[in-house]
Amino acid sequence: MDDLNTAPHQSMAQLIKVGLTGGIGSGKSAVAQILEKQGAIVIDTDAIAHDITAPGGAAMPAIESYFGQDFLNPDKSLNRAKMRALVFNDEKAKLALEHITHPLISQITTERAYQAAEKHPPYLVLMVPLLIESGKWLDQTPSKIDYLVVVDCPEAEQIRRVQKRNSLDAEIIQKIMAKQATREQRLSKADFVINNDGDLAHLEDQAITLHQQILADLSRK
Ligand code: ADP
Repeated sequence: MDDLNTAPHQSMAQLIKVGLTGGIGSGKSAVAQILEKQGAIVIDTDAIAHDITAPGGAAMPAIESYFGQDFLNPDKSLNRAKMRALVFNDEKAKLALEHITHPLISQITTERAYQAAEKHPPYLVLMVPLLIESGKWLDQTPSKIDYLVVVDCPEAEQIRRVQKRNSLDAEIIQKIMAKQATREQRLSKADFVINNDGDLAHLEDQAITLHQQILADLSRK
């Protein structure tokens, strides 16, 4: 994502970039799906992180050589549970993993953004779980993100939803949440907040309102 705003391509420079973030299980993917149905193109950086650590993924040779075969599953994909346990308590390992994965994720995100721009969608959604934490998306002038959307929900609800989705222990989910930005930190940066504290119909209503607001803002430009 190094050059999305300084891109020579007119279509990329004109494309509105909507950042979509929120804590684990807040409902980012659910919102992204709704916006996609409305015609937006979504780039999911978490899915890219999974792709590059799948069997044969672009990050796997470097991960194997730095961390060793112990961190690979028999199919040569990343053993996520084992890696998660390591990087929770080992900052050096965390930085090493990020050093391998982040440039690849940035590169693929940029490639997909260019492909998206060629299709002239109304706007592009960049779904980034750690958008606030990483800083690189917001601490730039001009910002790479034109519009920041935060999906917010009570922490107990996040835990319930992730337990159901991934069958992870509540304790592990709480540890993941403790490493993420707080709700307040995210909300303080948001241009638009979606409160995912109700049912899926309530979520859809808000996502459609967001979509309409972005289109209305665009038509005023
Ligand atoms: P995220 O992408 O932020 O981690 P998801 O969109 O995957 O979160 O949502 C987490 C889980 O909770 C998913 O299984 C999703 O279908 C479910 N979910 C999200 N919002 C709601 C809701 N309002 N009501 C019921 N289930 C929901």
